[in-house]
Amino acid sequence: MKAVVKSELFRELPSVDEVIRIAPLAPLCEAHGPSALTEAARVVLGRIRQEISSGLLDATGMRIALDGVPHAIEQELHKSLTPSLRPLINATGVILHTNLGRAPLAESALDHIRDASRHYSNLEFDIEAGSRGKRDAHVDRLFRSLLAQDSNSGEPKQASTSVSTIAVNNNAAAVLLALNTLAEGGEVIVSRGELVEIGGSFRIPDVMAKSGATLHEVGTTNRTRVTDYEKAINDRTRLLLRVHRSNFEISGFTEQPHLEDLVSLAKKRGIPLMEDLGSGALVDLRSFGVQGEPSVLDSLRTGVDVVTYSGDKLLGGPQAGMLSGRPELIARMRSNSLFRALRVDKLTYAALESTLLAYVKQDFNSIPTLRMMSLSKDDIGARADAVAKQIHSDKLKAEVIDGESVIGGGAAPSSVLPTKLLALTAADLSADELSARLRKSNPSIVARVEEGRVLLDLRTVFPGQDTVIASVLRSIA
Ligand SMILES: *Cc1c(COP(=O)(O)O)cnc(C)c1O
Repeated sequence: MKAVVKSELFRELPSVDEVIRIAPLAPLCEAHGPSALTEAARVVLGRIRQEISSGLLDATGMRIALDGVPHAIEQELHKSLTPSLRPLINATGVILHTNLGRAPLAESALDHIRDASRHYSNLEFDIEAGSRGKRDAHVDRLFRSLLAQDSNSGEPKQASTSVSTIAVNNNAAAVLLALNTLAEGGEVIVSRGELVEIGGSFRIPDVMAKSGATLHEVGTTNRTRVTDYEKAINDRTRLLLRVHRSNFEISGFTEQPHLEDLVSLAKKRGIPLMEDLGSGALVDLRSFGVQGEPSVLDSLRTGVDVVTYSGDKLLGGPQAGMLSGRPELIARMRSNSLFRALRVDKLTYAALESTLLAYVKQDFNSIPTLRMMSLSKDDIGARADAVAKQIHSDKLKAEVIDGESVIGGGAAPSSVLPTKLLALTAADLSADELSARLRKSNPSIVARVEEGRVLLDLRTVFPGQDTVIASVLRSIA
């Protein structure tokens, strides 16, 4: 019986050609061309066909579906011609949220991207000499000054004045390039407590294998001593590697050698020491309330030969991976053909250069991630109060409560920043439903759900977006 009904419904379904000739769609065909329209019609009809097959449509449902076809095609066409990568509001309080694009860029970085890429540029051109230049010169000079300055005395420090930096696609690429350059065909010694996986399938043992180096594990998960490294050194050893644990901590009965001791060992045996810092802060984060996150400069000053870190984590710039360290080692990386394969484009250099200039000028407030870290709980609370006042109604209860923001991006996993949260409960919606409504609003708002409430942390919300949140919430209520 059902089969008969279905086959009748299928017969009622018009063909794609018939549909795109429907009068109301003519202007769309004119505006966007026949192929986009045909594709949209195919998607919409396919959806109806699917609904018939699954028995979701009876005769009435079919009529409604057919009546709705022109509108559905228009919507489908609009969706297919709109970028799917779009801005949203991050109200999670996680400052470096990998799923949400990590660091938002400084305005100066955005301006510079436009400036440097709209016309031609001197990306690899030495204007003085009129000859070919190096693209990494643009950022190397800035890293040189940022990583040479002794923050205590203000004097350039002798040991760190000769630091070179190159940038590649991301930190995973930086680690790959370094391992391949320094240790291909040889061994790299790593503590078992540091064989980490960072989200998105970056695993130290896997990257090591791809680099052509052999992993030599030492110590145990919770305890590794400097003597473990020392005993493991043999004539195939090319590198000692230290990895920031990033997204987890080991507590209890633990031991990790002091970086100083690893540096001494490396110097004594003439083997380079590399540290994968992951996040790579360029300023001392203690002034931003973040404890226990070593900076790139700390690491270089201690005597590490090469440090690798991301551009879009604590640095607050574009996606990139930096290798900073002893010039002769960095020069070897630059001449590796992998460097050519992993190199970054002018957009990245433009964004990175402007972000670094902000550091040189100590204009930390212009870098969104640093500005967000420096916001006080009181400032965030005042903004949350203002939003709460605008939206509170019978349908939506809004309270401002204490909470914690997270740095994210694998930095300082146990360091949180005290904040104020806007806690929402809706009369007619569960917390999950309310959070889905926020997510599907325009612009999309991403929040946390905890203990039956939707929690919004305005630390990661740009101040101009507070009113957008308030108006979306009013329309939901
Ligand atoms: C984040 C991280 C990486 C990966 O960096 P990407 O820039 O995402 O490629 C590698 N190592 C550590 C320790 C990290 O924290």
